[in-house]
Amino acid sequence: MLFETIAKTGHEEIVFCHNKDAGLRAIIAIHNTVLGPALGGTRMWPYATEQDAINDVLRLSRGMTYKAAVSGLNLGGGKAVIIGDPGKDKSEALFRAFGRFVNSLGGRYITAEDVGIDVNDMEHVFRETEFVTGVHQVHGGSGDPSPFTAYGTLQGLMAALQVKYGNEEVGKYSYSVQGVGHVGMEFVKLLRERGAKVWVTDMNQDAVRRAVDEYGCEAVGLDEIYDVPADVYSPTALGGTINENTIDRIKAKIICGAANNQLATDAIGDELQKRGVLYAPDYAVNAGGLMNVSLEIDGYNRERAMRMMRTIYYNLGRIFEISARDNIPTYRAADHMAEERIEKIGKLRLPHLGVQAPRFQGRSGR
Ligand code: NAD
Repeated sequence: MLFETIAKTGHEEIVFCHNKDAGLRAIIAIHNTVLGPALGGTRMWPYATEQDAINDVLRLSRGMTYKAAVSGLNLGGGKAVIIGDPGKDKSEALFRAFGRFVNSLGGRYITAEDVGIDVNDMEHVFRETEFVTGVHQVHGGSGDPSPFTAYGTLQGLMAALQVKYGNEEVGKYSYSVQGVGHVGMEFVKLLRERGAKVWVTDMNQDAVRRAVDEYGCEAVGLDEIYDVPADVYSPTALGGTINENTIDRIKAKIICGAANNQLATDAIGDELQKRGVLYAPDYAVNAGGLMNVSLEIDGYNRERAMRMMRTIYYNLGRIFEISARDNIPTYRAADHMAEERIEKIGKLRLPHLGVQAPRFQGRSGR
């Protein structure tokens, strides 16, 4: 059954990690290492069933392959899940046991933070393996990726404005931003600095208040965000918000935000294309965080990371070109661009070489 599934998804390797004493039950999924070692975060979640955990890690690791490939990174796609409650089940032993499993893969998989995991947990993983990114800045790590993700989203937005309106004057347009968390708050700050009109919503009223008081945004209710007359809709909280119930309400001509898996279905992406709404594919737009951590491998440098965010502008431009040239929706164009790169670069590789383990530079303190 599992082999049948991974034959369809194209995964290379699934590792089930178990350590009774540490209470570890984790799964590492390596989807594709053609472009380089598989990089992707570890998620800790109290999955209701083991099957839910497997489904999640397979879906997320495949997504990382596409994100890295479309972003021009020399990385493959992987992800890990730890089955457990991040509020109750964390311990040094658990993360060190997990770190040993990551280490056993010899650099084929590099981990990072994801939902339920913080930099302190990564400290324990880092004790056991160097194949981890997003370690604390005191060790030469890259710190919080959110400002980079927000700045990368701004680059994607500029590419979308250029295609739709022939200019990149962010401040001339209005925006509905759904979610002002780590990324969303930075993003609205960037928009307001450029003089844009911005509507915001969030479940967290403190965050909404801050967006209003500090940055001069206008607050609307959780459901009202779909009805405001914004030029651009920016989903920056949850996935699946562009769906059958919301598509008629969203009047924006551009959709560009940092949330993962924004389209509820492929059919919704096809429909956006038919309606002339320019959808900036989520995984290409929000790759700033991945680009940022990837720089830890060569020795992290913040200025270089900021410059790298600009490539998101060019990547989006290329996706929009392919979409127009082949008359296909933008989400498909992004998939094609990623798949084509993997195929072409894969042909260059000598089969016997395998994945070269990364050699991390400029980090210390393990
Ligand atoms: P976060 O948890 O800091 O922020 C999410 C915000 O959304 C929170 O303030 C939350 O209250 C709000 N929210 C939740 N449900 C909502 C709803 N129904 N309506 C309105 N607001 C709601 O997360 P984040 O790090 O800012 O990430 C935001 C999104 O961007 C996520 O989808 C994440 O997967 C994606 N992303 C983040 C990064 C990064 O660097 N942090 C990188 C790539 C993608």
